[in-house]
Amino acid sequence: MKKKPDKQPDRRQELRKEIARLADVAIFGSISETYRKCGTPGCRCHTTGPKHGPHMYISYRGDVGKTTGYYVPQVAQQDFRNGVTAWQTLQQRLRELAELTREEILTHARQRREE
Ligand SMILES: [Zn+2]
Repeated sequence: MKKKPDKQPDRRQELRKEIARLADVAIFGSISETYRKCGTPGCRCHTTGPKHGPHMYISYRGDVGKTTGYYVPQVAQQDFRNGVTAWQTLQQRLRELAELTREEILTHARQRREE
């Protein structure tokens, strides 16, 4: 008699949905915040005043292994923050899904051996 494994398929389904949602918003890179001098001559930032910022900078390692990056406009900073968090969560969910896949393959392999 074929036993339907309980719970696992639901968890896999959940993970697939969550992975799809996260993949849609994920941003690859790490965030740093910098303060900069501006281009306005005589601005306070060139003397004793505070520099401008914080400016959000996203850096990441490109295809050739060189670190590169870009500045994020102020209005988009929260989206990018969420995106970087989503990327990290995405890695965890993918790993969890891969563990379930591994167990499923091993379970099937055992069943086949017992037949
Ligand atoms: Zn300035």
